[in-house]
Amino acid sequence: MHQELKDSLFKKYPSLYTNEISIGCGNGWYNLINVLSELIVDRSTKVEAIQVKEKFGELRFYYKNTSSDYIEGIVRMAGLLSGVICEECGDLGTTANAKGAMRTRCQKHKSFLEKKIVEEPVELPFEISGIGKSWLAMVTNFYLHVNANRHMYTDLEFGEVTKEFGHLTIEIGGGDDVTDAMIRMMLAYAAVVDEETGELIR
Ligand SMILES: [Zn+2]
Repeated sequence: MHQELKDSLFKKYPSLYTNEISIGCGNGWYNLINVLSELIVDRSTKVEAIQVKEKFGELRFYYKNTSSDYIEGIVRMAGLLSGVICEECGDLGTTANAKGAMRTRCQKHKSFLEKKIVEEPVELPFEISGIGKSWLAMVTNFYLHVNANRHMYTDLEFGEVTKEFGHLTIEIGGGDDVTDAMIRMMLAYAAVVDEETGELIR
């Protein structure tokens, strides 16, 4: 990530970035880290980031001074979202193999990847209507994660996913403080990007 973007994070969230920690990922995840940082600092100015990096195509955000379910949920969802956000430019991306390592890239930056990105449509067992491709990818990634880790999300149920007054809305049953925070993070990020392309809009 460019130094000026890192400096912008350090300057905006001094309680979270008490040191100029290592941020080892591409510029495309700057907005994701910005939204993540804002939600954390809004809740607590005691949390401190230790290290931020890319691993297996996903954002890893290490922090200390809290065991809050809320912070855990925000950070966990940021990791899931990064799996559909191009690390280079921030547009809608897919995680794929790149010379032995997993990377998340958009169609424009996919030449980096060994295999052509194939968009397999995922059958979702709940109603989705009127949302763009980028928002759909975020919801789909969340659903796939929940489904693959049912022991962590025993009673979480997905209801209807729609767009209301320009905002992504998702009906959820069950869950806990972690999943409430995860959804909050997803909606906060969805609110600042184009629902179709994933580009930053505000
Ligand atoms: Zn890209």
